[in-house]
Amino acid sequence: MAEAWAIWGRAIHAPDTVETLPRALIIVDPDGTIISVEPSVPENDARLRGFCESGRLISLSDDQVLLPGLVDLHVHAPQFPQLGTALDRPLEEWLQAHTFPLESRYADVTFAEGVYTRLVETLLANGTTTALYFATIHLPATQRLAEICLAFGQRGLVGRVGMDHPEQCPDFYRDASAESATADTRALIDFIRAMPGNENALVRPVITPRFVPACTDALLDGLGALARDTGCHVQTHCSESDWEHEHVRARCGCTDTEALDRAGLLGRRTVLAHGNFIESGDVARIRARGAAVAHCPLSNVYFAGAVFPLRAMLAEGLHIGLGTDIAGGASASLFEAARQAVASSRLLESGTDRTLQAGRRGVPGSRVDFRTAFRVATAGGGEALDLPVGLFRPGYAFDAMVLQSGLPDGNVVFDAEEDGDTILQRIVMGAGRGDIDRVWVAGRLVRQR
Ligand SMILES: [Zn+2]
Repeated sequence: MAEAWAIWGRAIHAPDTVETLPRALIIVDPDGTIISVEPSVPENDARLRGFCESGRLISLSDDQVLLPGLVDLHVHAPQFPQLGTALDRPLEEWLQAHTFPLESRYADVTFAEGVYTRLVETLLANGTTTALYFATIHLPATQRLAEICLAFGQRGLVGRVGMDHPEQCPDFYRDASAESATADTRALIDFIRAMPGNENALVRPVITPRFVPACTDALLDGLGALARDTGCHVQTHCSESDWEHEHVRARCGCTDTEALDRAGLLGRRTVLAHGNFIESGDVARIRARGAAVAHCPLSNVYFAGAVFPLRAMLAEGLHIGLGTDIAGGASASLFEAARQAVASSRLLESGTDRTLQAGRRGVPGSRVDFRTAFRVATAGGGEALDLPVGLFRPGYAFDAMVLQSGLPDGNVVFDAEEDGDTILQRIVMGAGRGDIDRVWVAGRLVRQR
């Protein structure tokens, strides 16, 4: 559509707390940016008639709700084929025996193309309008992932993984040198920024050292310099497990967060996956740099050995979003991650060892509810990435989805008379892809049931 268009109906988003816009009129400009948002516009409004008569109005029914698209802050795209498998192994073994052999197969671009196409389609069907992707060390396959995001219209932030440490990375899957890894990363940045059709930067490059243990100091420094030069986003794993946290301490003589900061890799557009074992000094440093944490509650159950204290870290003022961590997390649905965030926080609060006295079992004040989980899955992800997504607000991208009550393949049923808070609760605690009717990214309809 070459002219502005509008959507009218019930909308729910979470600018701070959850806010229901009972009959929202959202006007979207032709490039997909929200021009205006009014919370309650009656059916007989003259503008509604105007948009309707020129065929530029989408009118939602009583059994439909408009939500911001979901922002998945941690996806390993090449691990999609092993979703749900080998999760009984410890992290180091899972990586060496299962994950690295799989990731090494992406030297084959045809193989990569098949997997990446299925993944992007699956995530869009699940309402994930923005995804922050780790790819592999392979430049051509990573370029292909960026092209696939653009072709399907997903807001994709795509990183070629840097990993050159000979002791932590196998011979068959390792960057040849810090120099070649840095050069290939720069090549990906240039490629994505120049992709035809990507003038609005729907797809963005991300500087992606796998994690400190997998990278030599030379590579960390090289990628840090590249981050300063290019202003790109940065993503990596940070203090995910006892092993990772202690390994970095032993090697660098400081915490993971500090090592990343020394290399110039901790900035406003840095997303640290997991962060389970960050210490109080790390929290202050992450906050000071404006960096973010990708909370991955489902994979933390399998690999972290601890629960990330989401509520306490939000209270510390950190930017925090949510990640599926495909394939350390076994679900492609960020709604599933939201539910796990709620459940994990309850286990942290109550504790889990029944042989301890009730009052000594857990960490009081740790629980979060569906509202907080929804917020981190939408607006929190946008803040973490420093991008205008995740809210219905002028100047933000129209990245959104319609959920519908009672769809044949859906889980969620709500009554049109229920208040927005109750409807949102039903959605966050129950929704899956079968409840999603339509998805837009930057104003473009990218998925329809
Ligand atoms: Zn990960």
